[in-house]
Amino acid sequence: EAKQRGRNGFRFYTQDLNARTFRHFELENELGQAIANDQLRLHYQPKIDLDSGRIIGAEALIRWQHPTLGLLPPSHFIELAEDMTLIEEIGEWVLRQVCRDLQSLRLAEDELPRIAINVSARQLRQPDLAGTFHRIIREAGIPPRCIELELTETAIMDDPQGAARVFQRLRHAGMSLAVDDFGTGHASLVQLKQIPADTLKIDRSFVKDLDQGEEHSQIVRAIILMAHTLGLDVIAEGVETERQAEILQQLDCHTAQGFYFSHPVAFDALRGLLRDRVQLPAATA
Ligand code: C2E
Ligand code: MG
Ligand code: MG
Ligand code: MG
Repeated sequence: EAKQRGRNGFRFYTQDLNARTFRHFELENELGQAIANDQLRLHYQPKIDLDSGRIIGAEALIRWQHPTLGLLPPSHFIELAEDMTLIEEIGEWVLRQVCRDLQSLRLAEDELPRIAINVSARQLRQPDLAGTFHRIIREAGIPPRCIELELTETAIMDDPQGAARVFQRLRHAGMSLAVDDFGTGHASLVQLKQIPADTLKIDRSFVKDLDQGEEHSQIVRAIILMAHTLGLDVIAEGVETERQAEILQQLDCHTAQGFYFSHPVAFDALRGLLRDRVQLPAATA
């Protein structure tokens, strides 16, 4: 009996595994065609100046509009793209799309917002990432200071020297750089000093518990202090409540992002927010 069940269990397991392997294989094929088939989308999440509520920029976040599975978040396909070395092509698509969206605002150069793009560890190893990115924005006529790159602290720790080298070049070309998910990657102060970044982005995991009492705000206080000591800007991600925003201001962090202000939105919606100079969180009717 038990043996029978075991065998059946095993059979079901293999069937399930086969189905998943097949699904994965299909996704791989489809992802290879996603750019050509115009299925990639960017959503933009505003970055807010906490003192005024004004939008100071936005972060581009990729999605895949899959024909049958719907709108897929990056967690469903970025790793796959990295394994397939498609990430380089996707990264360039993201930058080109950001440039097109910025151009479509038809604003004077000095009125353009700064848009952040996420790059993964694998993209850092792309030969001449800085040169490629610089060429793309130059051809689009977008000023380099409108482009910010976000790289996670963990990705930096993968190859601190490589990261420093690429950061140096990107910075030399006029782009700015942020260390994403800061606090989770265990960079030492020495390593941090060697990375020519402009901004530390406090990871959501620390922001989440900010309103849960004094002991939870200590780490955030320390990160903010460290950023200021190193002469870096600081921004908090994942702010979901008014209280969290207030505490951040009290701790001397004046820039934030999170669902409390705005979820990531399509570019047309961002354009509207920018045009109407909306202060966030917008009062809901
Ligand atoms: P990230 O750069 O740390 O982006 C923040 C993620 O948290 C986004 O998820 C965003 O939608 C979500 N988020 C923002 N505010 C809140 C909040 O208040 N509460 C909660 N619970 N979540 C919030 P998303 O869009 O699914 O992106 C996940 C990750 O995928 C990003 O983390 C980034 O590392 C990566 N990613 C996104 N776009 C790209 C891309 O174009 N290229 C590469 N290489 N990676 C990307
Ligand atoms: Mg990011
Ligand atoms: Mg982040
Ligand atoms: Mg994060």
